[in-house]
Parts: sequence; structure tokens; C-alpha cells
Amino acid sequence: MTESNVASSAASNESAKYPENAMEKLISLCKRKGFVYQGSEIYGGLAGTWDYGPLGVALKQNIQNLWWKKFVLDREDMYGVDAAILMNQEVWKASGHVAGFADPLVEDLKTKKRFRADHLLEEVGVDPRGMTLEQMDALIKEKGVKSPDGNALGDVRQFNMMFKTNVGATQDENSISYLRPETAQGIFVNFKNVVDSFHPKMPFGIAQIGKAFRNEIAPRDFIFRVRELEQMEIEYFVRPEQWEEIFENLYAEQLAFLDEIGLDKAKIHKIVVPAADRAHYSKHSVDTEFDFPFGQKELLGLAYRTDFDLNAHMKASGVDISYFDESETDPEKRRFVPHCIEPTFGVGRLFLAILSSAYREDNLGEEPRAYLALSPRVAPILVAVSPLLKNKPQLVDKAREIYSKLRKEFPGRVMFDDNGNIGKRYRRQDEIGTPFCIVVDFDTVEKDAGVTVRHRDTGEQERVSVEGLVSILKKSQG
Ligand code: ATP
Repeated sequence: MTESNVASSAASNESAKYPENAMEKLISLCKRKGFVYQGSEIYGGLAGTWDYGPLGVALKQNIQNLWWKKFVLDREDMYGVDAAILMNQEVWKASGHVAGFADPLVEDLKTKKRFRADHLLEEVGVDPRGMTLEQMDALIKEKGVKSPDGNALGDVRQFNMMFKTNVGATQDENSISYLRPETAQGIFVNFKNVVDSFHPKMPFGIAQIGKAFRNEIAPRDFIFRVRELEQMEIEYFVRPEQWEEIFENLYAEQLAFLDEIGLDKAKIHKIVVPAADRAHYSKHSVDTEFDFPFGQKELLGLAYRTDFDLNAHMKASGVDISYFDESETDPEKRRFVPHCIEPTFGVGRLFLAILSSAYREDNLGEEPRAYLALSPRVAPILVAVSPLLKNKPQLVDKAREIYSKLRKEFPGRVMFDDNGNIGKRYRRQDEIGTPFCIVVDFDTVEKDAGVTVRHRDTGEQERVSVEGLVSILKKSQG
């Protein structure tokens, strides 16, 4: 850890003020309200897997749609792909994952349970960043580190995290395939296809959102470290001499995205990854870490992958995937293998950072409440519409009319809520992070006096004309 990193960690602990037991409360809220359920729950679960419920899907889709809009739809230099999860095993040999996609594993000699050696070192106050396998092994022995069950540990060794499977009816060496551990390779193997179809000018990027799988030794911290995950990745192709400037631009774009989805800036930290900790393909990496309730951890990454991947695939496949730049005046420089910068975002970790950032407890009108201060851009439900009383047909009809009108503007993000009294409805909506509640009362129908709009964070209410609702809600989308 460099000095500046130490400083930022210390500062982060100061700023990371979470309510007591915030994580337990969040997990319970997620289950109760239909954000996230344990995977295969009725069978006792499957470690490292989680299922997203109706509100979770909505929040996740909002994150993905905003990302796709910012990084693909709003730009002229980005192309989207959706590659298959199963790929020819040669892809993973060429990319270096078969040989090197591994984490340091150590086994409890009694229970045979396996743990991440670097995590055990962190727990005894050692920073394992930059350490070799041998150094970790020596430290574990020197410090007498035991397993969490209190037993002696074996030697530290490498554990490959790819899920292996066989494709087709035969189970031999040739039928081996892997569930992709990153979406990136689906982009590299389609580089030539996209160039041939679109003739993009340098620099340009290819983006993809999709599932990836990692057989994590110790999945933990709710959806932070899972075995089935979702990534949003861009491979941005550049001339080698352009990489530094574009790297900085992409880093700024990553931060801008975090701001757009409403993450607390004080909880975000830049970590320049030491050479020994960089992935095998990277020449320079900057991780963005976030103060989760369980500590400061990696949220997303940015890596300068050089021409490592395109070169590796060119060599292994025998296919020429170099780029020909017609606009280049120097004939020597016209054909080249582009270098690549990779901004990578984990959807689940963003989801968790958003929820952690948003979780609040306060007293509103003398009553304690727990709520999610979600940005209106990502909140699963943007607005709830209610009649003041559910047994007054004129109120219900008007509320239904407004509800239908708003639904057309904001599909899937408007809820009709006439359950219980108004106070209870507000609390229910606060808990799932709905920024606005609209109430139709007698003045609405009898005097055409608009509706009440109640704001989640302050509890303040204002009177708004029915015609003005759409524009207020649109404005909240930024
Ligand atoms: P870590 O050091 O936490 O294991 P990593 O450095 O291996 O992460 P990358 O290979 O850079 O992660 O993956 C890119 C992004 O994918 C990460 O920044 C993270 O958001 C997400 N990610 C990686 N592994 C997991 C996982 N097991 N569960 C959830 N998200 C993950």
C-alpha cells in the first residue's frame, strides 16, 4: 500500500458512517421487500449465488440502462456486442486464464475447508497487496495464522477459479469448455467482426453487459463476492501512443457514472494497483474502491491491457486481427495491433454500493424510520399514486387515471398503492426508496386543485397541478 493509499483508507474510515448493523438490516430489507433472495433458498441455498426479486431486477435494469446509455448510446465511438458465455477452450488458453486465473488458497488441515490466504492475512492486520505466494506462505507460518475454526493450515497454493464443463455428449479433452470468468474475451474474439462490419475509426470501443462465473474460494459479504456475477465491460482500442490520455479520460467517465447513479463521493477511493497485484495482462491498473459497511473494497477497475489479448488471439488462432488505418499518412504506421484500455464494472457491487449509500435511519414526525435515499434515476419505483381514501370511488378513479397516464411516461416505475392509511403507505414507499408519493384528495376532484406530492427524504409536501406532474418527474431523471 502506498502512502497516499494509506491516507485515503484512514480518511475513508472516518467518512464511512453507517447505522449499527447496517449490513444485516440491508440484507433483511432486500429479502423482505423483494430486492435479493438467497439462491436456491428452499433447498438451503447454494453458496455464492443470489436471485434478484422484482424490485432488484428493476434497480439492476436501471443501473444497466444508464450505463448503456452513457457509454454506448450517447457516444459515436462505441459498439455493443452480446457474446456467448461458452467459448472455445482455446480462447482461455490464449488469454492466459487456464494457466493463471488463480487465487491463493490455503486449507484447514482438520476440516479440509478452504480459505483465501490473502483474506486470512488481512484479518490479522497484514496488508497482502503485492505479495508473492511464497511470501504469504512464509507469513502465515511465521505468525501462526490459524483457520477461522482455530485449526492449523496447510501450504498456500494457487487455485484456478474457472468453472470447467464439457460441451456435447462426449467427455474428453476436446469437449472441455469454461463458463467465462470475464466478459472481455467475448469482445476480443469479435474485434475483427466489428471492424469488418463497421470500419470504425481509431480510437473506438466495444461494450458488453453479461454474466461471468468465478469459482471463488470464499464467497462472502452478501452479493459483493459471488460465484455467478454480472459485468459491464468496455474494451477501448487505441493507438499505443494514445493510451495515457485516454486512460485518464475513461477514469473520469467512470467517476462521472458513479456520481450519476447517486453514490456518496466521500466513500469512493482511487487505488493505483501495485505491479505485483496487477492481472497478468495489465501494464497499469487503477481500481476504484468503495467504503462498504464491511470495509473499503474494490468496486470497479480500469486496466491498460496493452496489445496482450489481440496479439495472443492472433498468435493462437492464426487469424490476422490487426487494424488498417487508412487515414494514417505514415505508411509504416498504417497497419498495427491496437492497444486496449478496459473499464470494467461489476453490476452486483454497484447495486450493493447504491443500497449501502442510500440506507438511512432517522426520525420523521417523531417516528423512527429506515429508508433508502435512492437517486430518482435508479429507484425501482419512481412514484407511487394513492387515493386519500380507498372507499371513495371518485378519489380512486382519479388516482387510477393519473396512475395510467404516468405509467405511459415511466413504464414499470409507477405503483398504485391504496393499502392501509397514508402514513403507512409513505413508510412502505420510503423503505423501498420511492422518491415521490402522489395523493389524490377531495380538492383534486372537486376543485381541480392538483395533487399532493410528498418528498421521501424530507417528508415535505407540495401541491402540484396534474398537468405539471410529468415534467417534475422527468426533471428528476437528470
Ligand atoms: P477482487 O479483487 O475483488 O476479487 P478482481 O480484481 O478479481 O476483484 P476484476 O477481475 O477486475 O476483479 O473484475 C472486474 C469487476 O468485476 C470487479 O471490479 C468487480 O466489480 C466485479 N467482480 C469480480 N469478481 C467478482 C465477484 N466474485 N463477485 C462480484 N463481483 C465481482
